[in-house]
Amino acid sequence: TNFHTLGIAQDFTERLAEFGIESPSPVQSEAIPHILEGRDVLATSQTGTGKTLAYLLPVLQTIDPEVKGTQKVILAPTQELALQIVREAERYGEPRGIGVLGLIGGAAVKRQIEKLKQHPELVIGTPGRIRELIEVRKLKMHLVKTIVIDEVDQVFQLGAGGDVDRILKSALRDRQLVFLSATVSQQTADLVKQEMDRPVEVGI
Ligand code: AMP
Repeated sequence: TNFHTLGIAQDFTERLAEFGIESPSPVQSEAIPHILEGRDVLATSQTGTGKTLAYLLPVLQTIDPEVKGTQKVILAPTQELALQIVREAERYGEPRGIGVLGLIGGAAVKRQIEKLKQHPELVIGTPGRIRELIEVRKLKMHLVKTIVIDEVDQVFQLGAGGDVDRILKSALRDRQLVFLSATVSQQTADLVKQEMDRPVEVGI
C-alpha cells in the first residue's frame, strides 16, 4: 500500500515525499482509512511508530476550508508533545492554508485568545488550557467535528481526566473521537466505552 491507496490526497503525498516519507507505517495503514471515514478509532501504538501522522493526515484532509471556525481539536498530555504535534501539523497543513494554533499551559493565555479570533481550523494543546479557553468561551466547540487524544493513558496519569470529561461534554454529540495510547488502562477503556460509538480498534 501507499498513502494514495489509503485515501490520502496528492498534495499531502507530495509533501510527505519532500520529507522522505514514501510508504505508510503499519499504524498509518490501519488507522488512516477509518479516520478518513469518520469512524471513532482507538489505536494502541507506541511513540516512534508514526502514530502522529496516522491521525494528523486524515484530520487535516477532512478540514472543510469553507467553514470558518475550529473544526478539529487535538489533546496531548504534555506541552512538549503538543508543540511537536503543532510543528508537524503546520508542515502538512500550511500548503492547504489550514490555520493551526497551539494552546498549551505555560504560554500567555492573552496571546492565545487573540489568535483564536482568527478562527484556526485546528487547535492542538494540553487539556487544562483547552478546558479553560472553552469555559471562558474563547474557544468555540460548536463546529468541532473531531477530537483526538494522543497518549490518552498519560493524560489520565497526569490527572487531566476531569479536563477531558469537560472538553468532551462541550462538544457535539456526534463528534468523531480518535484516541491513541501506548497502553490501555481501565480508565481509558472506560472512556472508550462511555464516549465512543462502535470504535474501531487498531493495535500494532
Ligand atoms: P511518531 O511515532 O509519530 O512520533 O513518528 C516518529 C517519526 O517517524 C517522525 O519523525 C516521523 O516524521 C517519522 N515517520 C512517520 N511516518 C513515517 C513513515 N511512514 N515513513 C517514514 N518515517 C515516518
